[in-house]
Amino acid sequence: MANIILLGPPGAGKGTQAKRLVDERAMVQLSTGDMLREAKTSGTEMGRRVAEVMDKGQLVTDEIVIGLIEEKLTGAQGGGFIFDGFPRTLPQADALSALLARKGQALDAVIEMQVDDDALVARITGRYTCGNCGEVYHDQTRPSKVAGTCDACGSHDLRRRADDNELALKTRLMEYYKKTSPLIGYYYAKGELSTVNGLAEMDAVAAEIAKVLDKT
Ligand code: AMP
Repeated sequence: MANIILLGPPGAGKGTQAKRLVDERAMVQLSTGDMLREAKTSGTEMGRRVAEVMDKGQLVTDEIVIGLIEEKLTGAQGGGFIFDGFPRTLPQADALSALLARKGQALDAVIEMQVDDDALVARITGRYTCGNCGEVYHDQTRPSKVAGTCDACGSHDLRRRADDNELALKTRLMEYYKKTSPLIGYYYAKGELSTVNGLAEMDAVAAEIAKVLDKT
């Protein structure tokens, strides 16, 4: 059992790899992005405010995302938790260690997925996902076998994210470099950081992640 953070810029492949770990190791994915997208559709005032910030590519406040994680972080579960897209700021990182300590749990690894910006633009602008099961596709590199149908669950609810466009991506990258990338140094200094090449083939990235997990 291991609790891990997947760290990396938008489009690094965090969600894709998290889904594999859920299937292969019965780990529990905690994606603040998914939780916030759910809140967006709730029709509440909070959902409306969150949508405005997210669609522009900015970060939602620490208070909101820490609250969301706090709700989901119960005692040990399955093969452990995958924190996907959280923490994204130093205060969030501190809040996570405090929360884990309170639940008697530890953080076993922080896996940084390294990719360069050119690859991110191409990955993000062609991306679509299944609204039912979360399977991730790409127009050029991984289209669904039957157009408009999810290979994994057969749903026809294939969607593009409102923030997967070039303008919002520019803001998301700026937010990443300004507020999230300092976490790389933070976890490195704590001796918790491992780095994998996020530009490799999906299976090769999964194998690198497996190596890190097998050492925990
Ligand atoms: P993601 O699905 O991880 O790419 O997140 C999509 C968007 O949700 C981000 O661009 C932010 O607006 C918001 N978001 C997700 N996770 C966080 C977080 N940990 N802190 C602040 N904002 C977040």
